Amino acid sequence: MSVRVQCIKCGSVGRIESSSQEGETVKKLYCICKNPECGHSWAEELVFSHTISPSALDLPEQLRQKLQHAPPAEQIKLFAELS
Ligand SMILES: [Zn+2]
Repeated sequence: MSVRVQCIKCGSVGRIESSSQEGETVKKLYCICKNPECGHSWAEELVFSHTISPSALDLPEQLRQKLQHAPPAEQIKLFAELS
């Protein structure tokens, strides 16, 4: 999925010119309005909100390997045991 930005001045779609990581959970997007009559440029923040399902990278190595080779039904069971 790509991020779409919108100009707050004229409502046109904007283009992301560049972005910078502003810490672990915040990304700043530098945008410019695509409407040539507007030309507004601005910065937006993309902020991490919350985890919906845990990263497999956070799991102990042994369990991760087990999950990788387990069929989907087995994976659900293993995840259920974790929480
Ligand atoms: Zn605009």
